[in-house]
Amino acid sequence: MTETEIVDAAAMLRAAGLRVTDTRVAVVETLADMPHSGADTIVASVARRLSTTSRQAVYNVLNDLAAAGLARRIEPAGQPGLYELRVGDNHHHIVCQRCGAVADIDCVTGHAPCLTPSQTSGFDLLEAEVTFWGVCSDCKALTADAVVAVP
Ligand SMILES: [Zn+2]
Ligand SMILES: [Zn+2]
Repeated sequence: MTETEIVDAAAMLRAAGLRVTDTRVAVVETLADMPHSGADTIVASVARRLSTTSRQAVYNVLNDLAAAGLARRIEPAGQPGLYELRVGDNHHHIVCQRCGAVADIDCVTGHAPCLTPSQTSGFDLLEAEVTFWGVCSDCKALTADAVVAVP
């Protein structure tokens, strides 16, 4: 998925069996623009576009989208839930330990589920959710600047 991909939010909603509403369209388009957004970020973005929406309406839409399989909620430790439209491909996330920036990482070995534990205690393995932690390029650049600034 490229960042400039244009989504047909109404078609996605209809395909998932959801009624097309202004708030749902706005939320889907916001998620397409800003993957891995928290609910508060999404509320703010939708409110800029629709004067007649409410925080609760956006929260309801996020729950509806997640229940319908249109959106996925990820919860890196220590962060509020983040939402994205990229679902069902067993991709993973890398999170910056300093600023919390999140990026996608494709399935580690190219097929899902990519982790094959040596024993599964009788569970059927459906999905692997892996969070990698690191330092993003912005934060790395900041650190480099700081090092230069201190003689
Ligand atoms: Zn960072
Ligand atoms: Zn993702």
